[in-house]
Amino acid sequence: MNDCIFCKIINGEIPSSKVYEDDKVYAFLDISQVTKGHTLVIPKEHVKDIYELDETLAADFFARVPKLARALKEAFPDMKGLNLVNNNEALAYQSVFHSHIHLIPRYQEDEGFALKFENNQNKYQQEELSEIANSINQSIK
Ligand code: 5GP
Ligand code: ZN
Repeated sequence: MNDCIFCKIINGEIPSSKVYEDDKVYAFLDISQVTKGHTLVIPKEHVKDIYELDETLAADFFARVPKLARALKEAFPDMKGLNLVNNNEALAYQSVFHSHIHLIPRYQEDEGFALKFENNQNKYQQEELSEIANSINQSIK
């Protein structure tokens, strides 16, 4: 993928603050540093998003996340939390189309990062929840 900025980072064509590298993944500081230590981990193989990951690549990719999480916590003892974020498609805020996981250390409640989880429990009856669950289940390949 010639025009992919994350492939260029992996290949050293664009500089990055490297955190970790092995044969399968590359991890580096996100240029935006939403919070101190905000890190991106990416598979070395170019895949656009979660839908393009096969099980083997996903296993390699996701397997690195816990040790990066532990490293962040050790490097920054004032960390009080960690959000993992994986955006897929533009509507869901994906802006670089080489799959990546954000590790966003949290130090306090009010900082550069927020997530909103609305509780819509009262809008669904059990029958409808069963239909939704079944339709997802029947689509699993
Ligand atoms: P997304 O919005 O796709 O989930 O996240 C893409 C992330 O890539 C953004 O947080 C953005 O700051 C980061 N990013 C974009 N271009 C570069 C770059 O050239 N270098 C680094 N280190 N991060 C980048
Ligand atoms: Zn790429």
